[in-house]
Amino acid sequence: MSAGFLLVLSGPSGSGKGTVSEKLMAKNDNIIFSTSVTTRTPRPGEVNGENYFFTTIEDFEQMVEEDELLEYAFVHTNYYGTPKKFVFDEIEKGEIVFLEIDVQGALQIKEKYKEAVFIFLLPPTMDELKFRLIKRDTESEEEINTRFRNAFKELDFVGEYDYFVVNNTVDDAVADIENIIAAEKLRVKRHKDIKKEIMAEKGEEL
Ligand code: 5GP
Repeated sequence: MSAGFLLVLSGPSGSGKGTVSEKLMAKNDNIIFSTSVTTRTPRPGEVNGENYFFTTIEDFEQMVEEDELLEYAFVHTNYYGTPKKFVFDEIEKGEIVFLEIDVQGALQIKEKYKEAVFIFLLPPTMDELKFRLIKRDTESEEEINTRFRNAFKELDFVGEYDYFVVNNTVDDAVADIENIIAAEKLRVKRHKDIKKEIMAEKGEEL
């Protein structure tokens, strides 16, 4: 079995990250989703502790002060952060921990945790991205424009990632991510003693 690792997915708002993540998690119960903390108000249907841990700015700042977050960022108009303890406990157990976070957060993780795998999700076109933002009807016009402007800024950072996936269809994007995971699990560096593993599989003595 390969060692646990962090899988980081970023991409502009409207690239379909949420839908792709949901499908990826539904299909793969061996991947653990890291629930972020946010100061944003819940959208209709969102569940505290499932989609996010919804919190106040004061409580969020206290978590930052007490060094409880692996990374955090101010995204669009709210704070978002990744609880540190949960992530490291799961990796320690050999799990793949999935983070769906913005570019600023991903760059912080890249500094601290070199073993992570970074995937950038792209929309088929920027027109399609704007169309998706408008269609989902969850943000005000002002918020949509902020997110669209931010999308262009985020694209500057694709080069910092290990892989890019184009979200033409959700199924294809999920399949691409599953292929990346399969390849990453086979990296020699993720296996402490590859010879021992091979021999054990064949039931042979070393
Ligand atoms: P939304 O408000 O649409 O749920 O998320 C807005 C943005 O915040 C998305 O780009 C999402 O990836 C990002 N985000 C969600 N959780 C985290 C987190 O824990 N850390 C960081 N840095 N970004 C996050």
